Amino acid sequence: MKVPSLEGEMFMTAAYAPSARATCRSCQAKIGKDELRLSNIVDEDHYCQQHHYHADCFQLKPVFKNATYKDIFHVENLTKPDQEKVKAILEKLQKMEFKKKPQQKISNSKSKKSQPKNTDLKDCSNNEDDNKKTKKLSKEAAKKDKIQETTKNGESSESQSDEDEPGIFVLYDKSQKEEFKKIQQDLEKKTAGQLKSMLKANDQTQSGNKTELIERIADCMIKGCLEKCPNCSGGRPKFNPTQKVFKCPGYMDDTEFRFCNKVYGPKDLKRIPWVDV
Ligand SMILES: [Zn+2]
Ligand SMILES: [Zn+2]
Repeated sequence: MKVPSLEGEMFMTAAYAPSARATCRSCQAKIGKDELRLSNIVDEDHYCQQHHYHADCFQLKPVFKNATYKDIFHVENLTKPDQEKVKAILEKLQKMEFKKKPQQKISNSKSKKSQPKNTDLKDCSNNEDDNKKTKKLSKEAAKKDKIQETTKNGESSESQSDEDEPGIFVLYDKSQKEEFKKIQQDLEKKTAGQLKSMLKANDQTQSGNKTELIERIADCMIKGCLEKCPNCSGGRPKFNPTQKVFKCPGYMDDTEFRFCNKVYGPKDLKRIPWVDV
């Protein structure tokens, strides 16, 4: 959703920070590479103002008091738990800051689809196929945008050479890397469905594209399957290669999102041996 403003077009974006250079507008601390980042962007012909925030520090502009998380650009590129987190953050901010006006109350998240203002912009949910197509297209667009954004940020000089290596490789020694690659090759022959049932049998997340599924399985096979977060007992700690820690993104329970953010060192979490099926 883009909203015209005095300064230009305004919109929100969500991303994993492409570098550790940006400073959070709110707490003034650096936003780590790959950390979940929310941004307020004002885009005009001659300049682009970008205000970045840690997801938890995000400041919502009043113009987005009726926005839903799907109006945030690139949100579909985040992992499911992070999408839920962004949704919860947005709704929390909207409740906190704009609850005085009754028509903007979002106390019941199930009723939010009936908000009239955004329907023309994003609600194509009554047609599943169209929805999928749009998502695919916007993903492509997002890739292009990402490149543009990188250039705009002046981050283009940053080395992208590590991009192809899985993030968890920073915890691997040479022989483990070789084993990983071998397993990767073997798993390529399997279908995504087969990979998912392997993950399911080991109580691991089954979301993501084939590459992500394969990397997850290979890591489980070599190091063991990560236990769920002992702190909230529902979240699946996500590895941050820059900080070399696992951070729990929280999780969606039956009715609401549970925030966690607990951080674990590489050896703090239990690893359960992989079971072949
Ligand atoms: Zn911050
Ligand atoms: Zn947790």
